[in-house]
Amino acid sequence: MLDFNDTETAFSLKSNAQLKKAYWLFKLVASKSLVGLGKKAAGLAMKLRLPIREVVKQTVYDQFVGGETIEECEEIIKKLLEHNVYSLLDYSVEGKETDADFDATKDKIVQTIKYGASHEGVPFAVFKVTGIAKFALLEKYSEGHALTEFESRAWTRAKNRVEEICYTAHKFGLKVLIDAEETWIQPAIDELTQEMMKRFNKKEAQIYNTLQMYRTDRLDYLKERLQQAKAEDYKLGVKLVRGAYMEKERERAQEKGYPDPIQPSKEASDKSFNDGVQFVIENLEQMSIVAGTHNEDSSFYLAELMEKHEVAKNDRRIWFSQLYGMSDNLSFNLAKEGYNVVKYLPFGPVQETLPYLIRRAEENSAAGGQTSREMKLIERELKRRGLD
Ligand SMILES: Cc1cc2nc3c(=O)[nH]c(=O)nc-3n(C[C@H](O)[C@H](O)[C@H](O)COP(=O)(O)OP(=O)(O)OC[C@H]3O[C@@H](n4cnc5c(N)ncnc54)[C@H](O)[C@@H]3O)c2cc1C
Repeated sequence: MLDFNDTETAFSLKSNAQLKKAYWLFKLVASKSLVGLGKKAAGLAMKLRLPIREVVKQTVYDQFVGGETIEECEEIIKKLLEHNVYSLLDYSVEGKETDADFDATKDKIVQTIKYGASHEGVPFAVFKVTGIAKFALLEKYSEGHALTEFESRAWTRAKNRVEEICYTAHKFGLKVLIDAEETWIQPAIDELTQEMMKRFNKKEAQIYNTLQMYRTDRLDYLKERLQQAKAEDYKLGVKLVRGAYMEKERERAQEKGYPDPIQPSKEASDKSFNDGVQFVIENLEQMSIVAGTHNEDSSFYLAELMEKHEVAKNDRRIWFSQLYGMSDNLSFNLAKEGYNVVKYLPFGPVQETLPYLIRRAEENSAAGGQTSREMKLIERELKRRGLD
């Protein structure tokens, strides 16, 4: 029986010392003011080249990141696989602006695919289009403005990078998730992803687009994409998430005076996510899903739907996914019951992963966020081990 409160299974990878350290860390990031302060201090210290690297490395980095290189992640990948939890190497370098940087990031992603091809524990690759193309270019393209000749060439280079990643994954038999980002650049990302699906998803879903179900338009979008996939005879791969940019989205909509693209409440986002999951399961002959969520109810709901529709727990069209360092109670208990689970395992140099780490810390300090759940579970496990 699926039991997300089974903390013995959830934390089987963690030693007593690691568990205590995780507890201490979640306690720290629970404070919004401390996280705000840490964010400013980390930025400043990095600029001034102060030696905070070790402090970051021993704390948030150690909790949420696999290592600086692919090789450094190997130990974690092996340990996760011993518990039937798969990994997905996420090269977490952000905010780059030059073609040389974009090429270097693309090369790194290609490298993760080649690594994955020779490791049973790594069935997926992932990337963000903003890691390999300029944000401003994606924005202009998304707005439908005509590109200058210079920009058109940059767009072609960006497309070529996406193609090389997807082609390599196809050749080596890995699946690729393309992350979703801000609404004002998403049309460009959707178009690129769509093209890749048409090319590489003939037999099965190999390329997955990400749909942020906190958007009011995404359920309809999902339904339209299914019609298109049927008409053009390819499989639709979707990673469903709630969405990570709510505050930014709302601020921009207000500032620019267009309707808020986000659901009016948390409950509405929850419903939209679950409706999306249900829609996929009801159309599984044409679709595949990665449920990227730390929400227990949604994870249970998907498991329930699978049972109702008599879908095998290990059906390769359905994956549950969580981020490394978070919600191990879902990942490990789902895997123990035979469901497919893949953890996002970020890697990269300490300084380069700071934006990712700050997002995780902020997410954990948000009211009603993840932290209280994580802390309660760790507390329970410390008690079970007689360490409280
Ligand atoms: C494996 C994985 C991959 C991910 N990939 C992406 C990605 O590609 N792109 C991306 O944007 N995010 C991504 N995320 C982050 C994700 O979108 C969520 O921000 C995060 O997982 C928290 O949502 P949750 O489903 O885990 O559950 P919960 O913690 O139950 O839900 C929190 C989420 O609910 C929504 N929400 C909260 N309050 C409100 C409100 N007042 N009104 C409306 N909605 C509200 C927000 O989306 C918030 O993040 C990913 C997450 C995971 C686990």
